[in-house]
Amino acid sequence: MSYTLNDKIKNLVPYEPISGDYSIRLDANECPFGYDDSFTELAQKALRTVDFNRYPDPVCLGLRKSFADYYGIDYKNVTVGNGSDELIFLIESAFLKKGDKLLVCAPDFSMYEFYSSISENPVVKYMKNDELNIEVDKLIETINSENVGAVVFSNPCNPTGQGMTKADARRLLTSVSALVVLDEAYMDFWSDDESFIKDVNSYDNLIVFRTASKAIGSAALRLGFAVANETISRAIAAVKSPYNINAVSQAIGTEIYKNKDFLKNRTKTIVQNTNKLYNKLVSLAEEYDDFTPYPTKANFVFVKTSVGRELWEYLKQNSIAIRYMGDYLRITAGTEYEVDTVVSYIKKFLQR
Ligand code: PMP
Repeated sequence: MSYTLNDKIKNLVPYEPISGDYSIRLDANECPFGYDDSFTELAQKALRTVDFNRYPDPVCLGLRKSFADYYGIDYKNVTVGNGSDELIFLIESAFLKKGDKLLVCAPDFSMYEFYSSISENPVVKYMKNDELNIEVDKLIETINSENVGAVVFSNPCNPTGQGMTKADARRLLTSVSALVVLDEAYMDFWSDDESFIKDVNSYDNLIVFRTASKAIGSAALRLGFAVANETISRAIAAVKSPYNINAVSQAIGTEIYKNKDFLKNRTKTIVQNTNKLYNKLVSLAEEYDDFTPYPTKANFVFVKTSVGRELWEYLKQNSIAIRYMGDYLRITAGTEYEVDTVVSYIKKFLQR
């Protein structure tokens, strides 16, 4: 007798982030600023409220209220996940029945497709146009003709940095009966006006994702949020594992979201640094044909180049990590110093 792994998992490799120590990390779209002294103090204070011998609050009441207050929404529309990653898996596996199709776009965040291979839902792929945009009428046509059960995409998009306008997204939502998951992980960097976080009660087919890992600067806490009408929220709460958010993350996350002015100002700084990075890369592009940065609505810049692998290796040798993606590179905006440094190394590389 012998046990063998099934086909869908036997060749999978565990996720491996870039390994090694780099003095500049611009590969994961994280916030470049760690907690300063006042935040550390606040986190330590929050830690003292934790009953370590007890299970955490399964409904994350304090955290949901704090998050909801930050965005001006009702906490009853919010469910918390162990990072949005957990929510993606949960929603794909629970809201789609066996055999229901999931539509993903390409290029987009790769985990959407990965999780559907585990939940065994067939994937319909919508290819973006040359400008890396979604043409919403074509997308609607594909969803309806393929009889898709759910569609998920990031807005603004990781990795392209492009955004779908609210008018287009609204047309999508009202033209399909599929579930639409708008992953707004990077929306803090674009505009509140383009977000659907305040509109979830107007739609019976909408889930909005947010995360504490980007603009909120708390990737280590692993906090993702699904915002939806109460019927959908109830269903998400019912299918999640009861104690998915540990008490330490709940306590610290609750305090972090209370610092509205600080967080909004820091987000503005990151947007400024992103604009600086983009403008500097555009200046380089004026001198080099094979180097094209795309305008961005997020905290990173996507660049098309055929020398991506060599440039990525060169930056690694100089202790700078960015993301290599075939014909493209994705560079997260760091601190001003990090932006200046990465651009000066890219310039050196291109001059060779
Ligand atoms: N969605 C998108 C579009 C992302 O880029 C990421 C992180 N790279 C996630 C979700 C996952 O975020 P979290 O840290 O909340 O799991």
